[in-house]
Amino acid sequence: MKFSEMPYERPDLEQMKADQAALTEKLKNAKSYEEAKAVFLEQDQAVRHIQTQATLASIRHSIDTRDEFYNNEEKFWNAAMPELNEYTQQWGLALLSTPFRKDFEAEYGSLMFINGEIQLKTFSPEIIPELQQENDLTQEYEKLLASAQIPFEGKIYTISQMSPFKTDPDDARRLAAWKAEGQWYKDNQDKLDDIYDKLVKLRDAMGKKLGYEGYTTLGYYRMNRNCYDKNDVEKFRQAVVKYLVPVADSIYREQAKRIGKEYPMSFADNALEFRSGNPRPVGTPDEILAQGRKFYDELSPETSVFFRSMLDNEMLDVLSTEGKQGGGYCTGLPDYETPFIFANFNGTQHDVEVVTHEAGHAFAEWTNRKRVPIDYVWPTMEACEVHSMSMEFMAWPWAEGFFGDDARKFRYSHLSAALTFIPYGTMVDHFQHEMYAHPEFTPAQRHQCWKELLGVYMPWMKLDGEIPFYSDGEGWQRQHHIYSSPFYYIDYCLAQTVSLQFWALLQKDRKEAWDKYMAYTEQGGSHVFTELLKNAELESPFEEKCLRGVCEVAAKWLKEYDLTGIV
Ligand SMILES: [Zn+2]
Repeated sequence: MKFSEMPYERPDLEQMKADQAALTEKLKNAKSYEEAKAVFLEQDQAVRHIQTQATLASIRHSIDTRDEFYNNEEKFWNAAMPELNEYTQQWGLALLSTPFRKDFEAEYGSLMFINGEIQLKTFSPEIIPELQQENDLTQEYEKLLASAQIPFEGKIYTISQMSPFKTDPDDARRLAAWKAEGQWYKDNQDKLDDIYDKLVKLRDAMGKKLGYEGYTTLGYYRMNRNCYDKNDVEKFRQAVVKYLVPVADSIYREQAKRIGKEYPMSFADNALEFRSGNPRPVGTPDEILAQGRKFYDELSPETSVFFRSMLDNEMLDVLSTEGKQGGGYCTGLPDYETPFIFANFNGTQHDVEVVTHEAGHAFAEWTNRKRVPIDYVWPTMEACEVHSMSMEFMAWPWAEGFFGDDARKFRYSHLSAALTFIPYGTMVDHFQHEMYAHPEFTPAQRHQCWKELLGVYMPWMKLDGEIPFYSDGEGWQRQHHIYSSPFYYIDYCLAQTVSLQFWALLQKDRKEAWDKYMAYTEQGGSHVFTELLKNAELESPFEEKCLRGVCEVAAKWLKEYDLTGIV
């Protein structure tokens, strides 16, 4: 069915609650596995239906925020969802204590029980005051950053409006932009320090109230870490420093030569990959989508059916139109068994990523659209990013169609960005482990810690006094996740590592790479991350040989890659 034809009707909230409560009672009273399973399937259908209606309203609201009708529907769902969550939690508890657990596990696997038990470990009514304060503090941080007014060249800009100036090919202008942005953070230093100090102490207190050593264990549970722990992450970190940092370092040494600077470069010069700018896509939005169709048609029969269905049913809303919300996302409409992609094309590389990265997420959902229970459609976050980041690499042979003459530059830039991101991301995660291990740190000690980690993970950065905010070790304060989503960041690094494994395999054997991609993706969220990898015969990023192997191939590729004529 086409998106525009999908009917929307606001359900009765009290009726939904009563239905959910009745299902929970039925599960509790089930006399046999057959009876329990029938209720389980009925509940799954009900959840799919609620999600479909809520998502339809939210998509239509984001497509045109001026639409009064969907504006009201969005408000209705924002208020209804927390109320419905209480009923979902009751259902979850009933499922955890069902006497038919063994039968459920035999048919659906144990993951839903494992995840349910982890959820229980993250909450107790005792920590409600802390949760509310945490929410207030992260909002205060987000508001502060969103309200930034940065004077630059006689005008006033927000943080995101400053971004293009920070990669301006004019050396003086670029440096001035970095300084102006850094000065804003410096001017707000006390507030930024204070918010984080409160957050760390609050989270530490929450962890202790729940009986843990502090925040770290609780933080892992809140991220639903169901197959690796802090020790595994430490092993990953060591491999990053040992194998990846030297490769990333060589990329910046090459860059210094290319743009005529001396290694090590300042933050402002590290940001300038090419004096000629980032790779730019060719063609109109329609031509980019047509190139996407060609890519998915030629990649595999499965992706061809998927992408054509997305186009035919209006499941890609990508033009930047009046009244449309900013940003982008990929979501799903379970009743219609289809994903949906929302984006705002802006003429940059981002437009191609909508077709490769976001559609990679969508393809995973589409492949698992019939999977029961609905919680098994998507795996945990690091596992989801493997779908999308790897799909980006699958698209390399079609880069000429997306980027024209810039294709050669794009491939180099794409790979080097993936490689240089991981040390940074791992540092963001390492920093947070230090913070929660030492909640007593003063702001000065926190900055000192970041500065020391910079020396380990990003030795290519020159830490002189040119841009004080960055060289004083305060740059972590612009990373939203450190404030708002503790321990989230490593997910991107783990996923990127697996996607680089696909990249390395693609250099050798495209068919094998695709077969493994399908073997991985077809499992949806029915297993934990490490199992999904194992079942698809992929290496785990927690094994040293994974990054070692990837880095060997990448170092050789970078060395041999011809950048003649690209400045
Ligand atoms: Zn993604």
